[in-house]
Amino acid sequence: MMHSLSIITKINLVILTVLGLCGGVVTWQIIAYEKQQVEEMLVKQAEIIFDQVQALRHWNSAYGGVYVYKQPGMEANPYLYKVRPTSNKKRPVEPEITDSSDRKLILKNPELMAKEIAEQSKKEHKTIFHLSSLNPINPKNAPDDFEKRALRAFEAGNSSVFKSLINGDTPYFRYMRALESEESCLTCHGFQGHKVGDVRGGISIEIPMQEELAEAERKRVVIIAYAIGIYLVLALSLTVTIRRLISTPVNRIIAFSKGLESEDEELLPEEGRNDEIGMLGHSLATTKKRILRQQLALREKAEELDLSRRTDPLTGANNRQHFILEMPRIMDRANRDNSPTSILMVDIDHFKEINDSYGHAIGDRVLQQMVEHMLQETRSYDMLIRYGGEEFLVVMPNTENGPAVEVAERIRKSMESCHCVVAGDKTVLFTVSIGVYTSMQEEIDQMLLKVDKAMYRAKEGGRNMVVNRA
Ligand code: GH3
Ligand code: MG
Ligand code: MG
Repeated sequence: MMHSLSIITKINLVILTVLGLCGGVVTWQIIAYEKQQVEEMLVKQAEIIFDQVQALRHWNSAYGGVYVYKQPGMEANPYLYKVRPTSNKKRPVEPEITDSSDRKLILKNPELMAKEIAEQSKKEHKTIFHLSSLNPINPKNAPDDFEKRALRAFEAGNSSVFKSLINGDTPYFRYMRALESEESCLTCHGFQGHKVGDVRGGISIEIPMQEELAEAERKRVVIIAYAIGIYLVLALSLTVTIRRLISTPVNRIIAFSKGLESEDEELLPEEGRNDEIGMLGHSLATTKKRILRQQLALREKAEELDLSRRTDPLTGANNRQHFILEMPRIMDRANRDNSPTSILMVDIDHFKEINDSYGHAIGDRVLQQMVEHMLQETRSYDMLIRYGGEEFLVVMPNTENGPAVEVAERIRKSMESCHCVVAGDKTVLFTVSIGVYTSMQEEIDQMLLKVDKAMYRAKEGGRNMVVNRA
């Protein structure tokens, strides 16, 4: 059979799912924010490098380039010879000069100086920067693929900043920023048709970011582990709390309510709680107490009813109904134990005459006295029945015929000598005729028939006698 989930379990699952989804979204946001932080940090680094390079270039170009003594193996920048004058005929720059002491000096223009510092930086550090242009004077300043894309984007009017993450064996961050022509640049680049403000190239910067990525990965793992840990703790505490505070008490209340009619005086711990479940528990416990009280009252009433149904109101003896209900049980037991059962049938002699002579009330007194005496003469487990008007049965389980006859004789004598009923100044005397029958295993009707016959024989025999039908 499919076991459907309880409503509390369903609510628990919904909360856990919503909590899980929210936790997932928040974790994802934190990871995205961390990634953004790393990128912002790299951009800042790149901007600092860019500013430093620019400062160097400005310093150099403010002097129109700087001359350094020519060392062995050094050559003047050949591309400076290509620089053509714009307005006057004079060459704008002199790539190589000789001083008054006949020493050679070569010109280091801003680009050359930046390029050489870039090479130095590449040797000493991992950070690389590079000046490039789509239209370089020095073909070595030709852009690579990333730079080409950036420069084309700048030319198309896109943002002057371009960045990208290059993943490979050694992942690195690339950044490129446009270089706009300034007045000082036109000294050399003026002949190329550049004007102030034109984008004529850019500085691209490469920052290795293996460590940053590894750090980001470490952070991601820690964040996810924390998120899972927090979720598990929350889920567990929520589930345990719901189980302790709601599921278990509700299940106990359900079990309790199922057993409302049972007589167990079981306790409901929820009764003492000061909340809705406590109130429910209290009301159920009160209901149970009321049901138990009513059950008890009903049972007492039923017992009373049963007693009155089985008892003769006049004499207090058992009535025929009691005989009908109890006799089969007595006979079953006798059959099981293979023990004899004796029956006496006791009938008052000429009772009609007593009634006629003294009145019904006196007749009733005789009946009551007779029962009292018979109870005295019999054992507690013998069954006295008022079978008819003035006709009684005494059922004696596990009694042989001999003792039964003795009891019958005692009853007869006790009646005969009874001076217990008085009518005015007269004592009402009465006698009884008794039939005795003892059976081992027989139908009840047969036994009744036989004991009745014995009693009639006592009547026929002159009354006030015991006839045994052994
Ligand atoms: P016998 O010796 O042959 O038994 O004669 P009897 O008069 O006792 O028998 P009978 O059957 O002729 O009469 C029984 C009488 O018992 C008739 C009836 O009015 C009377 N009787 C039956 N029940 C009660 C009762 O509850 N109270 C009184 N006072 N009399 C009763
Ligand atoms: Mg009679
Ligand atoms: Mg009779």
